[in-house]
Amino acid sequence: MVCVFCGGKAEEKEVTFSYEEGDKYILVEHVPARVCANCGEKTYSPEVADELRKFAKAKCRPIRVLSVPVFDYGDRV
Ligand SMILES: [Zn+2]
Repeated sequence: MVCVFCGGKAEEKEVTFSYEEGDKYILVEHVPARVCANCGEKTYSPEVADELRKFAKAKCRPIRVLSVPVFDYGDRV
């Protein structure tokens, strides 16, 4: 497989998909994707992208819930 962004070599891997919409932030683990060894861009097959959209609509129960620390870059010491 060739990366559609840079033409680098893309490999099949399992990745963690992250999705953000306003204050809602979800992660989906063990998602099959093609990851470019050159630029790191992840691409998903149309079938996988469809499934990911279902998670984004929160139709299923998460396996666990993380608390995520949020920082403001302006507050750094
Ligand atoms: Zn690439």
